[in-house]
Amino acid sequence: MKDFLSPEISQQEQWQLVKQHLNYAYQNSPFYKQIFKENAIDISAIKNETDFRQIPITAKEDLQLHNLDFLAVDYTEVIDHVTTSGTLGNPVNFMLNEADLQRLTYNEYESFKIAGVTKNDVVQITTTLDRRFMAGMAYYLGLRKLGAGVIRTGSGLPGLQWDSIQRFKPKFLVAVPSFLLKLIDYARQNNIDYKNSSVKGVICIGESLLNENLEDSALRKRIRELWEIELFSTYASTEMATAFTECELHKGNHILPNLIYTEILDESGNPVENGEVGELVVTPLQVESMPLIRYATGDMLMKIEGNCNCGRSSARIGAVIGRKKQMLKIKGTSLYPQHIQEAMNALEISDYIIEAKNDEFGNDLVILKISEEVKLSPLEIQLKLRDQLQIKLEIQQISASALFQKKFPKESRKPIIFHDLRSI
Ligand SMILES: [Zn+2]
Repeated sequence: MKDFLSPEISQQEQWQLVKQHLNYAYQNSPFYKQIFKENAIDISAIKNETDFRQIPITAKEDLQLHNLDFLAVDYTEVIDHVTTSGTLGNPVNFMLNEADLQRLTYNEYESFKIAGVTKNDVVQITTTLDRRFMAGMAYYLGLRKLGAGVIRTGSGLPGLQWDSIQRFKPKFLVAVPSFLLKLIDYARQNNIDYKNSSVKGVICIGESLLNENLEDSALRKRIRELWEIELFSTYASTEMATAFTECELHKGNHILPNLIYTEILDESGNPVENGEVGELVVTPLQVESMPLIRYATGDMLMKIEGNCNCGRSSARIGAVIGRKKQMLKIKGTSLYPQHIQEAMNALEISDYIIEAKNDEFGNDLVILKISEEVKLSPLEIQLKLRDQLQIKLEIQQISASALFQKKFPKESRKPIIFHDLRSI
């Protein structure tokens, strides 16, 4: 296997990897060749982080519009074809060759180590391994390298999940946090002694377990009240092909600096101070098939510098507090859909979606659509949310089946809670 160095590399060693990456993209990526030419950028003159910021940002739209121009290897070298999750617009094609699959394997191997998974453990993967999904495959590959036992149950099917837990005694699950609530519900209805099961920890995907003050989110608190297991947050995306993982101290997700160069930038494109929130811009390192430089993730999160008490020297990032494009402005108050989700989690309501539209004057109009089966009345919910968020939201009740159709569109790999119908 290719040597991807170690997450304990120095800043100079990381900078060497950045330089190698720029050279590789310059020589092999049609898209970046063009970018460097158009902007008269001499990559040999890039000596530090300030120089690096002269390179224009790559946006998701670039990947969509010029997809094949990003391919830096021969098409016949591609082994795995995946797509991004498509949370914002159409999914984008992504391709991996042998070296990229090795990198993905190594990445997830390091990520599992941060969460404390060892060769001796059994892990049940409750996310999909197919459906063009990179993460499910990455978990499997990482666990193979680690040498742990793997159970591939795939997504959904609480009955099969519990049957597998009872048969194979996994110590860890890989799961979407809100799915854990479904597992608990099922266990209660079927008299399964879930509190004394073999499961001790969960590697979580897709939902925030910390709030913006680095405290446990309402979702983590709610799960932990019902089931005392350790929850590890991870953050990743297809474009980054790199995971950021919480250690046992649960105070932010560790960066793997040998695999990714990160910038957290303010509105003007300057780095934010430690502890401030900005947009995460990434340069995934040691990628061959579709190298990216300064890719804007759209995710707003906090920069955390300084050593972690776990002994790792790598910097960390905080929870994603929202997507840049999803910011809502309601009567002068700015917030992200995640703020509404956090407040709904605190009310222990999960049967809802959030819809954003433009009103006749072009202002944001946000409607919270809740299932008729939710016990609290719309007025009660409206008042409780007003206390939490200082805004008055319009609330509509819809039937449970209509809600289900909106929340779980057939083609989606995960629930869609926020529906943005605003014109851009
Ligand atoms: Zn740590």
